[in-house]
Amino acid sequence: MTTASYQTYSALEAAELRVREAGEWLKLEDGLIETIVRPRRIIEVAIPFRRDDGSRDQLIGWRVHHNTTRGPAKGGIRYHHEVNRDEVVALAIGRSLKTAIANLPLGGAKGGICFDPKKYSQSEIERITRRYVSEISSFLGPDKDVPAPDVGTNAQVMAWVMDQYSTGVGHATPGVVTGKPIELGGSLGRESATGRGVVEAAALMLAKQGTTLQGKRIAIQGYGQVGSWAARLAAARGALIVGLSDVGGTIYDDKGLDLARIDQAFRDGVRSVADCGVGEVVAAGDKGSAAVFGLPCDIVMPCALGDAVGEAEAQSITAKLVVEGANGPLTPGADHVLAERGVVVIPDVYANAGGVTCSYLEQCQNFAHLTWDEDEVNARVIDLMRAAFEKFYAFAQESGLPYRLAASVLGVKTIADAHRMRGLHP
Ligand code: NAD
Repeated sequence: MTTASYQTYSALEAAELRVREAGEWLKLEDGLIETIVRPRRIIEVAIPFRRDDGSRDQLIGWRVHHNTTRGPAKGGIRYHHEVNRDEVVALAIGRSLKTAIANLPLGGAKGGICFDPKKYSQSEIERITRRYVSEISSFLGPDKDVPAPDVGTNAQVMAWVMDQYSTGVGHATPGVVTGKPIELGGSLGRESATGRGVVEAAALMLAKQGTTLQGKRIAIQGYGQVGSWAARLAAARGALIVGLSDVGGTIYDDKGLDLARIDQAFRDGVRSVADCGVGEVVAAGDKGSAAVFGLPCDIVMPCALGDAVGEAEAQSITAKLVVEGANGPLTPGADHVLAERGVVVIPDVYANAGGVTCSYLEQCQNFAHLTWDEDEVNARVIDLMRAAFEKFYAFAQESGLPYRLAASVLGVKTIADAHRMRGLHP
């Protein structure tokens, strides 16, 4: 395949391609790969609701159960004005691979509503959420499908999901959703879990290369839930966060950015790293956000949105290690460029699995009516991430496959084995 032909892939085509490539490598028999590529169900719903001014409005939403062979469907709900059916399917495919690679007894799902939550009031978002949940509620449940937060949703939205579902079934059901507020059965450690996993993934790969995070220069795109925790936890392990970017632009300091001052600025109401008065603003605006990839550094962590790193950005990367905190931040073309340049990429399906791992631990606590303290949750997240890394790394070495394909093969193999054992109904 030429580099040029990679540019034509949509996120869904790229996700399907990655599963098909894994199926071909495994030489799956009897058309099994088609069963694995295809989602079990795609639910599309209309969401009529009242605006605050009393007028009637309507949105469109989806919930996709991609694979449920190994356990209940699991995946976030995204509120974003560019969400569409294909993107939700692509993200659900990634989720099935992620739970399989992390060896969690869960399937893969994703949901989304196409709207910009920043343009709606809290009460409107609550009505939208409740109507969406009531439209898909017969497909939800602790043993069926357990949503979680994603871009544009948060613990409050999850609380409304839990309440709407619980009202429908007639009793409080905390286990129907993860990423809930602590008061409703949410888990300590959830907020930092994905960033913690991203940093652990980097540290584990560096250890295989005979080095550590100490003194490594890191550039991160996104200073939200994933990026900000990845930055803080990497800095706590001796790394220097030299570059950060978000919708407002990119900042740089080769001696390491002062994260405590950035966090204080955010608490004071600043909305972008570029407006914190920390470091040098090397590029402004969301277009300037990609400048972070070309900064001189050792490790790049894209922790914002999908498709952030295309071929041009991949060419600009000076780092030798890329850790995918976001879902699908590298296009297939970027992957190709980085592979040719010998840059190691730790793929999203492993690197950002700390979040779903902690969500799984939240489910365990809900099922057992237990509450673990934060240190215990963090330690369990790290243990599960390490176990998954050893399996993934050993398989990549043994097979000689690039890391992304090795991860996909491992995920697809885990799912295919489960399909074979369960057999084909009827
Ligand atoms: P978030 O909304 O908390 O933060 C997103 C960050 O990205 C913000 O700093 C925002 O300014 C920045 N951003 C948004 N659009 C941008 C653009 N066009 N250019 C540059 N920066 C932009 O989201 P999050 O929860 O941190 O999620 C980030 C990514 O990680 C998403 O791809 C999400 O699917 C993925 N992810 C999140 C979790 C989780 O637990 N939150 C788990 C796994 C994967």
